Amino acid sequence: MPAQIIRAARALTPTEEIVDAAVVVEDGIITAVGPRKEIVAPKGAKDHDARIHLLVPGFVDVHIHGAGAHDVMEATPESLQIVAATVARHGTTSLVATTVTAPTDEICRSLEGIARYIESPANQEPQSSLAQMTGIHLEGPFIHPQRRGVHPPESLAQPSVPTLDRFLEAANGCARILTIAPELPGALEVIDRARARGLVVAIGHTDATYEQAHAGIEHGAHHAVHVFNAMRPFSHRETGVLGAVLTDSTVTAEVIADGIHVDDPAIRLLLAAKGIPGVILVSDGTAATGMPDGVYRLGPFEFTVKDGVCRNAEGRLAGSTLTLDRAVQMATLNPAKRLGLAGKKGVIAPGADADLVLLDERLHVAAVMTRGVGFD
Ligand SMILES: [Zn+2]
Repeated sequence: MPAQIIRAARALTPTEEIVDAAVVVEDGIITAVGPRKEIVAPKGAKDHDARIHLLVPGFVDVHIHGAGAHDVMEATPESLQIVAATVARHGTTSLVATTVTAPTDEICRSLEGIARYIESPANQEPQSSLAQMTGIHLEGPFIHPQRRGVHPPESLAQPSVPTLDRFLEAANGCARILTIAPELPGALEVIDRARARGLVVAIGHTDATYEQAHAGIEHGAHHAVHVFNAMRPFSHRETGVLGAVLTDSTVTAEVIADGIHVDDPAIRLLLAAKGIPGVILVSDGTAATGMPDGVYRLGPFEFTVKDGVCRNAEGRLAGSTLTLDRAVQMATLNPAKRLGLAGKKGVIAPGADADLVLLDERLHVAAVMTRGVGFD
């Protein structure tokens, strides 16, 4: 692959703003970034002159179920590649494939297929613009029945170390995030096990009291899934899981900022409590992402999309059609750090993967580069 130089009116790295910026990419890796006049293009470098655009790191989505009419639990190389290609068009260059509650055998089958894809050359060295799957997020089955959202009730399970071990074995080293309701019997043991195996543990789909959530955090659950959604509501005397998540600075908080899942004042409250570094934008995207209204699948069940809103047969919200082209640090640096990928993803810096997005003056995605591929 020849060296490339990208010039843009502005770049957000995202911790720094560079006016009249240039970025050099060699073999899919960023090797230099700075003001245009200080950067020398390598000999024979391909020039991308995008001086009217804003350059930002590619988005990192830690909670996404599908896109382009496919759900990650289909777990075939073809379906996973369609998901990866669809979100890449919207600026997402890394994603954590997220499963939903299903019978244990079915989850294991999906995990095996996704893990095979993650390790395949198509995902490791893209020849075309594909978001990279950097792992698997297990959302369910260890969640509270009262806060299950659209997860099928018949397949919910009590937290169990042997079941977790089955999942981890099927995921073959690719499991990255485990969502769990910390108040369920056996949950703390499962959190310990998951942490010992290097997973990020997320509190979610939970009816936990403040104390129960706090106990989960003490055991290493330092992330919270789609905060406000599928959680016991806040009260000033029993602040519940939200009291713990909002006031503990070790916990990062996902939010689905699509204007439907969470009202604006709640998002302002979240930002006021956590600060920008504590918030991670996620899409909770489904097979309907990048698709027209219609009927789609989420793991084992069907849902309907009308006016871009996903609901199951009972009318409950079933994920979203959101894409991450609506914010920067909370969609890039913060999730990369939470995944242990700081310096490699979510940043424009020497040594990072060349995952880059050009935004136009209305902040719409104009072009996307995934590990040096794209911008043609
Ligand atoms: Zn969920």
